[in-house]
Amino acid sequence: MTRPVLIEKVRNIGIIAHIDAGKTTVTERILFCSGRTYKIGEVDEGTAVMDWMSQERERGITITAAATTCEWAEHMINIVDTPGHVDFTVEVERSLRVLDGGIVLFDAVAGVQSQSETVWHQADRYHIPRISFINKMDRMGADFWRTVGMIHDRLVARPLPIQIPLGVEDKHLGVIDLVEEVAWLFSADKAEEPVKVPLPRKYGEDHNGWPQEFVAALVRADAVAPGASDLIISSLGEARTRRDELIEAVAELDDQLLISYIEGRHISAAELDKAVRRATLANVVTPVLCGSALRNRGIQPLLDAVIDYLPSPVDVPPIKGIHPKTGETIQRQAADDEPFAALAFKIVADPYVGRLAYFRVYSGKVSQGSPVHNSTRSERERIGRLLSMHAQHREDIEEAYAGAIVAAVGLKNTFTGDTLCDKSHPVILEAIKFPEPVISVAIEPKTKEDQDRMSETLGRLSEEDPTFRIRHDPETGQTIISGMGELHLEIIVDRMMKEYGVEASVGKPEVAYKEAITRSARTESRFIRQTGGHGQYAVVELEVAPRERGAGFRFVDKIIGGAIPREFIPPVEQGVKGALETGVLANYPVVDVEVTLVDGGYHPVDSSELAFRMAGSLAVQKALSQAKPILLEPIMGIEVATPEQFFGDVLGDVSARRGHVTMVDQRGHMRLIRALVPLAETFGYATGLRSLTQGRATYTMEFDHYEEVPSSVAEALLGRARGYVRR
Ligand code: GDP
Repeated sequence: MTRPVLIEKVRNIGIIAHIDAGKTTVTERILFCSGRTYKIGEVDEGTAVMDWMSQERERGITITAAATTCEWAEHMINIVDTPGHVDFTVEVERSLRVLDGGIVLFDAVAGVQSQSETVWHQADRYHIPRISFINKMDRMGADFWRTVGMIHDRLVARPLPIQIPLGVEDKHLGVIDLVEEVAWLFSADKAEEPVKVPLPRKYGEDHNGWPQEFVAALVRADAVAPGASDLIISSLGEARTRRDELIEAVAELDDQLLISYIEGRHISAAELDKAVRRATLANVVTPVLCGSALRNRGIQPLLDAVIDYLPSPVDVPPIKGIHPKTGETIQRQAADDEPFAALAFKIVADPYVGRLAYFRVYSGKVSQGSPVHNSTRSERERIGRLLSMHAQHREDIEEAYAGAIVAAVGLKNTFTGDTLCDKSHPVILEAIKFPEPVISVAIEPKTKEDQDRMSETLGRLSEEDPTFRIRHDPETGQTIISGMGELHLEIIVDRMMKEYGVEASVGKPEVAYKEAITRSARTESRFIRQTGGHGQYAVVELEVAPRERGAGFRFVDKIIGGAIPREFIPPVEQGVKGALETGVLANYPVVDVEVTLVDGGYHPVDSSELAFRMAGSLAVQKALSQAKPILLEPIMGIEVATPEQFFGDVLGDVSARRGHVTMVDQRGHMRLIRALVPLAETFGYATGLRSLTQGRATYTMEFDHYEEVPSSVAEALLGRARGYVRR
């Protein structure tokens, strides 16, 4: 077997965007233009091929990252679908982890929205080179340059417009590519090929000087897009100015181009292309393109830009990992002759082939039927089938090479974030970090039969989604599910009912409160029992101290001189950790605390692991109650866009929900409100907002941080919690 395309010709990209910016539509069009789908899908009709889950169709949002492969200009493009809804930011993160480049979509009317900022900064963290596509140029109020300005101001990025739109709103017919100096015209018939009109060298000045080819091309352009020639002619002057600006901007960043620029030579398309590529790969600029996905305008040049400006697997730094035994840092080059290493980034329960593990091969190659080593879990695995995924079909492949994104059947114990590698060259690649759930609901099956199916289904769904958890509450006998937001859980329950036919009733959502302490405390605990035969003996003295918000738990061992024998220290830590799971205020987990084991005592016969675990647990509980514990609640960041006339009502409602407004802005005829609102006050927000604004406002919400619950609210909460415990 040889590789299907050279590694330099592979692009692993994601399309990242605010919900509704048109990600699904753009993906659809890409698949259409690259020849993989036959019928053009429409999101609004619910036929989009990428959105293959029915909830997604109904809600019109894409939740699960499915990877799909397509070909363009002898290159292989793997598109990892990233969700647009921030309740699923973890999905965005995990796809960013395996991408080399991204297309960021903006809505030409709404411009840069708050979620665009979130995803932009996520992509910054992973150093992902991006091109920007300003979509919906056909909409009323579309404004290319305003959006470019917002990319500059709000994202603090350096946008590099490499196109200008040919017409806006209902007159949007195409784009001018400033690098190549051609106009692209698109027909109203989505399936028809676009026409390219090369601009005359001295364009914009003298009609009589136009070359014959240009005049002929204008006629062809008018035939596919009536009115195109006038638009092109009237845009010639602007195109020239903007191209000069583009060259100036790039020359500032690129020495090679600077030389040509200073010498005053005409800069060729190839020369400019290379310079733009260098600046994009170095992550200092984002080339900006535009179009209308809905009308299939601008997609072919976008695909060209993916190839011209986004990195191949060899253009990004080699992946780093650690040796599982020695902990030494290991680097792997993206090359087929390196040892095999891959990262599993998504597990899907597929109704047809069963458990499907998507992974990215970072180095080496792997073939169908071969054994692999899961170094994260130290398990031996076997790859059954290897599949290349397309939007509508899967293709069996024999081998997967460095840089590929593929799916495998047959991996039983591999989970999201695990490394697969060659056993004789073990490595653990940097894993993906997942946030803790902030909301939970009790869920009760309708019948005994549903009970079994429910546990099985939920187990499967949590395997696919690491931010979704299930637990059994021994006190109430209920099953509790938790996740990243109300919508997140709603969708999971929906899937369970629809896809797997489980009937269940769902309780009221509960906030995942946490506890923390506000000062240090030191206590001693003695766990000593004399009960005939072997007794129990452990003395533990420890100190608890608050840590910064979000810093997590830390255990420090300061035992010297063998006050506690070495083998009993891990049990103390286990006891401490166990106790921190249920805090002293209302049984919520305790976070951001440092526990230092300072002293202790033991008995040569009666001391045991159990005794030290108990003593550790008791000591920490005592210390926590002396350390002024407080209650923390999750705070959500929310952004509402509302028509002016409802602005006051929406604002009032945010305040009534203990919200704190952080920004108010005007966007076209819409007012924008950003606020931080406690999660506990956001339940039913969707319905509330709809009735306040006759359904005309939209909002997004995502977890922001944990904060102390104000004392008046805390008292009520604690009163309830205690009453509940007493019952
Ligand atoms: P996603 O949420 O980012 O996946 O966005 P979708 O692709 O589902 O698009 C959201 C809505 O915007 C749908 O109603 C699309 O038909 C519409 N839409 C997408 N692209 C365009 C466009 O270029 N122009 C216009 N007018 N509407 C668009």
